[in-house]
This record gives sequence, structure tokens and C-alpha cells, in this order.
Amino acid sequence: MRVCPEGLFVEPGGFFIDPVRAVERAVVTHGHSDHARPGHRHVLATEGTLAIMRQRLGDGAGQGRQALGYGEAIRIGDTTVRLAPAGHVLGSAQVVVEFGGSRVVVSGDYKRTFDRTCAPFEPVPCDVFVTEATFGLPVFRHPPDLGEVEKLLHSMTVFPERSHVVGVYALGKCQRLITLLRAAGYERPIYLHGALTPICDLYRGFGVELGELRPATVAAKEELKGALVLAPPGAIADRWARRLSDPVVAMASGWMRVRQRARQRGVELPLVISDHADWDELCRTLDEVGAPEVWVTHGREEALVHHARSRGIRARALALVGFEEEGA
Ligand SMILES: [Zn+2]
Ligand SMILES: [Zn+2]
Repeated sequence: MRVCPEGLFVEPGGFFIDPVRAVERAVVTHGHSDHARPGHRHVLATEGTLAIMRQRLGDGAGQGRQALGYGEAIRIGDTTVRLAPAGHVLGSAQVVVEFGGSRVVVSGDYKRTFDRTCAPFEPVPCDVFVTEATFGLPVFRHPPDLGEVEKLLHSMTVFPERSHVVGVYALGKCQRLITLLRAAGYERPIYLHGALTPICDLYRGFGVELGELRPATVAAKEELKGALVLAPPGAIADRWARRLSDPVVAMASGWMRVRQRARQRGVELPLVISDHADWDELCRTLDEVGAPEVWVTHGREEALVHHARSRGIRARALALVGFEEEGA
């Protein structure tokens, strides 16, 4: 396996994993736009990821599409490939590649926190583990997600007249926040910006319960008083949100740990809810897969490489470009 301008290339199989340019043959870990690019001739992914790609990319979702279930193995060239759950978003997978008696696992984006919207991350023992490091600094330790949801619900009881508008990434964060709210006992309708509806419908099609959702765009202003409204991050501070009655602006993201980022976005109520592993999860995962060699693809690579080396692991930073941390 080697790094090319297009991305990670598995030479004995003749395929790329999450290539950043259109290629002949791609294995795609999940549907976020920095991993699932348009225009590949052949795409192999889970059913969930293929459905997300079709919805977001239309004709660009790949000419030939092949679904592979978690745990199913297929031969590609001289390799055997299977997909293991990554716990990141619906359909997200780690790519397990075996050739010449060794096993490489490319984890894509992942987290270890329980998430009702996708299958939990499965540690696969391997010889080479390829990991992201979006939150690869010891300062990043995500708090329990239900505690963050309690903050939101508390604010709604303190300001019952105000709308609460929460910025969420359309794929993953939106549906996870909804399931967390439902788990915390919030049963009222949740209002959605139009950009969030299609992916919520897709999740429901895959059996994820989201409760009653209503479009925020057609809802009367009076109805949105005291309501909970979810919108893409780009919409929470613009004209769209100002139509709401004196909104409390919140945002759910791992980056809300960084106060400056919250301030930049005009976020009054930051909610630290991440779909990426934090520092402890990254370190725990290296322990569990037990790989003597680790490659770090993107993010805060240096600290994780240093940590791995201190534990006797051969580690290298790949510094892959083109990954914008959508959905962090
Ligand atoms: Zn992602
Ligand atoms: Zn990513």
C-alpha cells in the first residue's frame, strides 16, 4: 500500500481507499464529502454508504456500484477485502485488506462512543493500522454526550419563549443529536431546516427512529417559539435563523471544545458532541488493535505519532490532503 496524489493506493488489489480524485476503482469508507468523491468508475462500499452517495452525488456516485456487508469478504486482485463497522455515521466502515500474509486496516473516520444511528466500531487486530487524528491532542477529551444534550434541554426550560437553533452537520451529527434528545426524553416535534430532511429520511429508511420531525421553513413563527430547530452550521447565524423568535444559537461539534471556534460562529451555547475519536479513544484503539505499525492520515498527527513511538510502535504521519473534517 502506498500514498499517491489520489490518496491511499492498495497496489496488489489495484484500488484506492477514499481517493480525493476520480479513479478507476475506489473503496469508500463513508458518505462524508471529503471521503466519498464523485466520478469513480467503480465503487465498493456498504449499502448505507452507497445510498448516501446516490442521494448526495446523483449520477456522480460511480458507474459501477457494489455493496459489501460488514464481515463479508471478497477477492480484489491479489487481496481479500472486508469491511468492519467504524461507528462514525450510518454505513461507515473500516477497510480490512489482507495480502501476502499480512493485514492492513484503514479505519476511515471513527469513534468509540455509543451511537444509536450506526453499528459500533469493531477493533480488528492487524499488522498495520491506518488512523485519522482529527482530535489527536491530549487536550481533546469529549465529555459524555448525554450531558451536552442536558445542557440544551436545560437552556430550553430557562428560556421557554425563545427558539433554540442548533447547528449540525447534515450527515451523522443531525441524526445522532435527534436520537440523543429522544433518549433524554424529549418527545416534542423537532423542526428541521430543509437541507437536513433528505438524510433524515434516508436514516429512517435504514430503521433509525427519529420521532416526529417537521419542516422549519413552512412552520409559522408562532409555532417556533420555544421550539427546537436544527439547521446546517452555515445557516445558524444568517438571515434564515433571524426569522426565528430571538433564537438561542447552539452548535453540536467536537470543535466546540475550542471556545474561539464557538465565538467565531456566534455560538452562544456550544455543545461538544463529536463523531470522531478523542485522544483517549485514539490511544485505546491503538492498544486494542495491537498493530506494530501505525500510519496517521490527517488531523493532529504529531502527538499521536509521538505517543505511538513511545509505546514501541513504528509510526508515520501521512499528512494526506483534501480531508476537511466534515461532520467533526
Ligand atoms: Zn467523516
Ligand atoms: Zn473525514
